[in-house]
Amino acid sequence: MAASRPARAVATDGSDPLIAALDSALAERAADGLARRRRVVASRAGPRVVVAGRALVNFASNDYLGLAGHPELARVAADAAWRWGVGATASHVVCGHYAPHDALERELAAWAGPCADARALTFSTGYLANLAIVSALADRATEVHADRLNHACLNDGALLARARLCRYAHGDVDALEQRLAASRAPRKLIATDAVFSMDGDIAPLARLLDLATAHDAWLVVDDAHGFGVLGGGRGTLAALGLSSPRLVLMATLGKAAGVAGAFVAAHPSIIETVLQFARPYLYTTAAPPMLAQTLVASLALVRDGAARRATLARHVARLRAGAASLPWPLAPSTTPIQPLIVGANNVATSLSDALEARGLWVPAIRPPTVPAGTARLRISLSAAHTDADVDALVDALASVARERA
Ligand code: PMP
Repeated sequence: MAASRPARAVATDGSDPLIAALDSALAERAADGLARRRRVVASRAGPRVVVAGRALVNFASNDYLGLAGHPELARVAADAAWRWGVGATASHVVCGHYAPHDALERELAAWAGPCADARALTFSTGYLANLAIVSALADRATEVHADRLNHACLNDGALLARARLCRYAHGDVDALEQRLAASRAPRKLIATDAVFSMDGDIAPLARLLDLATAHDAWLVVDDAHGFGVLGGGRGTLAALGLSSPRLVLMATLGKAAGVAGAFVAAHPSIIETVLQFARPYLYTTAAPPMLAQTLVASLALVRDGAARRATLARHVARLRAGAASLPWPLAPSTTPIQPLIVGANNVATSLSDALEARGLWVPAIRPPTVPAGTARLRISLSAAHTDADVDALVDALASVARERA
């Protein structure tokens, strides 16, 4: 047996050099004002939650249609737990693919598929779905052209594929066109959020699809924040009337749909490629079938959600009108994501604290989630909010602004 190197004793008094290295990185993050903290929510999901013993109006969630706490879905979930059990027990390709998963896939493909005869696959998170798509379609020789403000998981998919990640300036289709024209890569993929998660604006998807067609690239669209909200609920591609076998649609099911998970919908050959080759699909336990069953019920509410979407649109207009006289600008967004750009990290956190003191939960978003110097309050609206909730937020922002003038 080979002689092993004697291990250095680990001191128990906190002087272990490995722990010390972690502690110093953590201290640096805190000193930069970038430390994250978790808040414990002690009530049902919804527009009003209890945190640290206080009721707060919640402008932090992605529960755009107000379905996460919907009693009918809770009842379906409870029944589904009795019917199917609580765990899927294995990956989809071993023995974890249950009838509710199959039904959910079919419904999603038929309703939201981005081309004729689309198929769909479901995932337990959107993060995994993006890893799966990009790593199945890209390899070392592939260029992944990504909008600079994309969600991190699209970039992480390119890392997993060991592809060449080429980021273009936010929404800069001309720059992208030049790069695609100059590219000699055998395979190209354009990846974009449909609705940008921290800005709320919508990608120029029609022009991106034209480029994908002209330059033989796939167009991967992450519609985490458009699905359920735009296009009668079918999402941003449907809102823009776009359909093509070049399109790969990913959308999450833990935001407007109110439950958890995600799906990919695309041409059947793309879906079969993801199923056969994507490690983040093959090597993870399927989401519990009770969640898939709950999602079938939530999809029905999303489909019939015109009244909820109308309420949401009314709240967006009300907030934008009310916030027009504030000293901080709202980003130009027409979606329920309404970021108030304040610039400095400490201003964002202190505003968030001041709002919390007034009973409103509005998270401060700082780098590296957003570019340096663009820290913001990410206000996110829900159909479950009331007009009075929106007015309370506008009034509180105005009162904080007066205090600081
Ligand atoms: N894409 C975007 C644009 C997102 O905002 C998110 C979640 N914040 C994800 C993907 C990941 O989805 P999930 O939370 O289901 O992992």
